[in-house]
Formats: sequence, structure tokens, C-alpha cells
Amino acid sequence: WKTEPSTLRAMQLRIGNGYDIHRLVPGRPLILGGQTLVHPAGLGLEGHSDADVLVHAVMDALLGALSLGDIGRWFPPEDPRWKGADSLVLLEEVMALVSSEGWSVVNVDAVVVAERPKLRAHIEAMRAAIARHMGVAPDQVGVKATTNERLGPTGREEGIAVHAVALLQRD
Ligand code: MG
Repeated sequence: WKTEPSTLRAMQLRIGNGYDIHRLVPGRPLILGGQTLVHPAGLGLEGHSDADVLVHAVMDALLGALSLGDIGRWFPPEDPRWKGADSLVLLEEVMALVSSEGWSVVNVDAVVVAERPKLRAHIEAMRAAIARHMGVAPDQVGVKATTNERLGPTGREEGIAVHAVALLQRD
């Protein structure tokens, strides 16, 4: 079974998925969705940029929807320009790329896997910040949180992981 190229050209929707995980370490800020949170054990996320693992997963979902690779391709960690970079600004750059390719966001949805801190009180601010920097409405940005039931690396608080999907429509 083979999809005809003409059928592909007619498709007006594209879906992408993104995944990221960053280590939890002492002496680093914990930034998720642009919000600086306090971890009960004083831990933060390790990374070359601000290590905003939520925004990273969203960016990878957006890039993935257009088969444009991942954020490592567009913002290589060895490039000193991205040291300590504000990931929300990188998200704006990804959105500029999406627009220049002729696509708009239908919605994005993400789930943050973290034992602590409790994220419920911060979810709306994360959604608002991500939506603002994407140039979309907050109801186009879903952010959910779950623990990993103390299982695996996220469950042992060795890191925080995020899964995200993005749906795009052709302009
Ligand atoms: Mg990352």
C-alpha cells in the first residue's frame, strides 16, 4: 500500500510528538513552562540552557510535526549562544519556523512526569506562558502532571520527563 504524493500534498494536518528528560541536581533552578518552582529537596534541572524540559518537549513536538528534526539540530548544545538560554525565546523561534513553513498550531498537549513538587498550582501559569510565546490562546495548550508512582528514574526523582504532542494545520 502506497500513499500517492498528491494525497500527501492534500493533507492539511500534521501531528508531532516530543519527549525530553533532564536530571534533577542540587544548585540549579527548577524551571517548567517558564515558571521557577521550588523543589522540596532543593533540586533543579541540569542542562545547557535553562533546562525547561516542558518547553523542550513542546518544541520537539512542533518540529516533529513538520519533520524538521529536533531542537538539538536547531539549537546545538555545544553552541555558546544557547548557554543559559530562555527556552521560551527558543520556542518563539520554533514558532517563527512553523509559520514560515506555512503552518499554524491547532493545539499542543503535554504531560509532565515528576514526583515533586506538586504542579497543580502552577499549571495555569505554565499554559499561559507557553501560549503567549507561541502566539496562541491558552486553551490551545494543554499541560498535565503525573507522578511515576515512584517507579524508574522519574519516580526516584533522578529527573523530570515530559511527553508532548502537537497538531498543526496548513495555513
Ligand atoms: Mg532538553
